[in-house]
Amino acid sequence: MNLKSFAADPQKSLGRQFKEAPSILRNDFQRDRDRIIHSGAFRRLEYKTQVFVNHEGDMFRTRLTHSLEVAQIARGISRTLGLHEDLTEAISLAHDLGHTPFGHAGQTALNRCMREYGGFEHNLQSLRIVDSLENDYVNFTGLNLTFETREGILKHCSNKNALKLGEVGKRFIQKTQPSLEAQLVNFADEIAYNHHDIDDGYRSGLVTFDQLKDLSFFNEISLEVKSESPSIKEKQLIKSTIRRMMNIFIMDLCHYSNEQINREKFNCIDDVRNALPMIGLSEDKAKKQQSLKRFLRETLYLHPRVQAMTDNANDVINSIFEKLMQNPGPINTKVQSQSTLAILVSDYIAGMTDRFALQTFEKFCQSKAS
Ligand code: MG
Repeated sequence: MNLKSFAADPQKSLGRQFKEAPSILRNDFQRDRDRIIHSGAFRRLEYKTQVFVNHEGDMFRTRLTHSLEVAQIARGISRTLGLHEDLTEAISLAHDLGHTPFGHAGQTALNRCMREYGGFEHNLQSLRIVDSLENDYVNFTGLNLTFETREGILKHCSNKNALKLGEVGKRFIQKTQPSLEAQLVNFADEIAYNHHDIDDGYRSGLVTFDQLKDLSFFNEISLEVKSESPSIKEKQLIKSTIRRMMNIFIMDLCHYSNEQINREKFNCIDDVRNALPMIGLSEDKAKKQQSLKRFLRETLYLHPRVQAMTDNANDVINSIFEKLMQNPGPINTKVQSQSTLAILVSDYIAGMTDRFALQTFEKFCQSKAS
């Protein structure tokens, strides 16, 4: 690794919450990544909705494949910018751990159920999982990850919540930045989903080639691909166009961010933390990214078939929440108050896969009918 002086450095890590002896073979960020990969929450991402509910088909992205794509894109950017790839990978793989079943519809539903108890936010939940909900270690709760990985997982946070989070919450109050590794994962996330959602949208039949041609950036690139290979089939043309678009965004991000970083003359990671955000797209590409997002919202996310898939989420999550609040069943019942119980119920529901949530819902409905 050709590390810059302002990259995150495992030797100078701000450490873990519980002190541990170092590993002989792996640096601390590799160790974080490995703990994430071996966690139960990570395995469950396989059966959680990205856009398409898991049972809609085996060919669509899930939260797991999405996270792997984010990690792949982010590592490449990290290497190009001379940042720490292992930290970048650890943050990427953990960034969506806190998502509920049924994607954003699930989060909205659970947030509504939790309104009186502080709400629900998937990003905060990702941190909660690695800090306390994973339960495979004897000496500590959670995965006991380094500060740098935890800082990267917590992308945004209200001041109210930040005050409860100790060191890792401070930057939201002090308005400072996280490491460049953390900053770039947010962009890798957007690049990944914007493009894989076009691909899934097209393959599902919900987004057509004609619609895609209305997106001027897509059209421009697809004409370029077509002129190089006039006999190319539609499917390959779309794939090639998506690949080329991703490459354009990634190259732009590396180039633009590198220029911004070079202007600052950073010496160490603290300089990064005290500066403005450094990772970004040029104005032109940022505009193109916005139009891509708008296109996806209008054609895919708000498509009646996607809406129908996720509308069901509200019913499922509401029913499970209400039922468990009345009769906690699988949850520890020795809790002191309704609000503590609500948090346990919310953790339990957020951890469910799509299919486990549906099974639980059916079980509850059946027991209601009998
Ligand atoms: Mg994501």
